Amino acid sequence: MTAQDVSDRVVDGAADLLREALGDRVALPGDADFDRLRMPWNVAIDQRPFAVAYPQSAEDVVDIVRAAVKCGLRVAPQSTGHGAAALADTDIANAVLVNLSAMRGVSVDPDVRTARVLGGTQWNDVIDAIAPYGLAAMHGSSGDVSVAGYILAGGLSFYGRTHGLAITTVRAVQLVTADGSLVRASAEEHPDMFWAVRGGGGAFGVVVSLEIDLLPYGDVFAGMLLWDAVHAPAVSRAWAAWTQDAPESATTSLRVMNFPPMPDLPPFLSGRSVVVIDGAILESDDVAAELLVPLRALEPEMDTFARMPSAALVAVHMDPPDPTPVATIGGMVAELPAEAVDAFVAAGSAPGVFIAELRHCGGAIARGAAGGGAISALGGEYCVVGIGVVPALEMAAPVARAVRGVVDALRPWHADSLALTFVDGGVDRAPAWGRSRGRLIDLKYRFDSDDVFASGHPVETLG
Ligand SMILES: Cc1cc2nc3c(=O)[nH]c(=O)nc-3n(C[C@H](O)[C@H](O)[C@H](O)COP(=O)(O)OP(=O)(O)OC[C@H]3O[C@@H](n4cnc5c(N)ncnc54)[C@H](O)[C@@H]3O)c2cc1C
Repeated sequence: MTAQDVSDRVVDGAADLLREALGDRVALPGDADFDRLRMPWNVAIDQRPFAVAYPQSAEDVVDIVRAAVKCGLRVAPQSTGHGAAALADTDIANAVLVNLSAMRGVSVDPDVRTARVLGGTQWNDVIDAIAPYGLAAMHGSSGDVSVAGYILAGGLSFYGRTHGLAITTVRAVQLVTADGSLVRASAEEHPDMFWAVRGGGGAFGVVVSLEIDLLPYGDVFAGMLLWDAVHAPAVSRAWAAWTQDAPESATTSLRVMNFPPMPDLPPFLSGRSVVVIDGAILESDDVAAELLVPLRALEPEMDTFARMPSAALVAVHMDPPDPTPVATIGGMVAELPAEAVDAFVAAGSAPGVFIAELRHCGGAIARGAAGGGAISALGGEYCVVGIGVVPALEMAAPVARAVRGVVDALRPWHADSLALTFVDGGVDRAPAWGRSRGRLIDLKYRFDSDDVFASGHPVETLG
């Protein structure tokens, strides 16, 4: 659907109609709250929707979707705005941005190891709620990413090589669909919608709650090893070789990180470039320590690997806790011979690159699980990610070019797949869905033929 098609269907007086239907649950340009509510976590993205709606309940979401559709407007669900750069590929000038940040909450059933979370819930909320029961969840490296946005796009976690993509832990999704219905989709109820939303995410509705499986880990062996970046070539080659034999119980990442001099940073990072290996090893302390011997032999200047409460795992990667202006690009890599590692390290030290990262995938991540949805597995052995900080909006394009260099450096070794969570716009998403894509497009037409939902990862509509 083109921006012109959408614009043509917006009814006269749409702003007044929205206000009449939604009252103070919607903010329009010029309203006191509009700028605060439209601001995403990724503050490099200046998103300007037609209006922002701010639901407190599933019933509010039903009202919002119905009012938007009646006005001829699209609906763009957003929980935190970590993925705002992906949504920026879509014109949302005639969309109601649904800011779900008030819809947070977790209820835990420790006996069957599941949690029910509201549509805007963040992983830190889940971690806090499940820690007293000695349970863990398949969160990623950042606790303020939302469960819905992350998990329905796949979700790469440090439990991944043992337990698969986080999306495989979704048991049910309750969402408001394009016709304004509140639907519970699971293997038994609305199975086609359940299949589609697991990979199609916000292109199929506004998720108001999810039910997810939890993991039986009260503690984990996890941490990080850090060296000065002069050691990046040797450490990176050693890690790449180590991952070839690492068991599926070990999920780790390797990063080249370039920190500007900043008083807020700890002195061991400020103004330095470093190389870091971090992750989790789901083994006893002795087995985990034995596995780490070749990496520890490289004499890191910092080594925090130890047994820790599973609630502490989310902090190991040191992701920024506050809204940040970033440009990110990801790709998948089939193998990492020495020349690929050297190309990665060189690209990681280019100007404009804040972080160049390789996450070890494979194992259960590549195998998937029975009964999965449009995404249930991720091909390729490594996910490569380039991240840059955008100091001012006019720097967005050069920083994006610099971080693209990290992914492009590994082009000869790319796998024909894509981790949707690390797509921040500007790329073809088709490889993320692979063979599921045809069915996903058919189901988009069946459930949302008017393309009501504007998602960070759009699914084509037929016709
Ligand atoms: C600092 C940082 C660390 C990260 N770490 C990891 C990681 O370790 N592993 C990993 O796999 N990914 C990671 N990511 C990527 C992250 O998972 C994606 O950006 C994800 O889309 C963020 O989801 P969100 O809901 O928080 O963001 P949003 O921008 O709010 O949402 C992104 C998209 O998700 C959909 N969506 C969100 N909420 C809803 C809802 N309630 N209903 C329907 N659709 C919804 C929408 O289509 C929306 O456009 C990280 C990103 C950042 C910035």
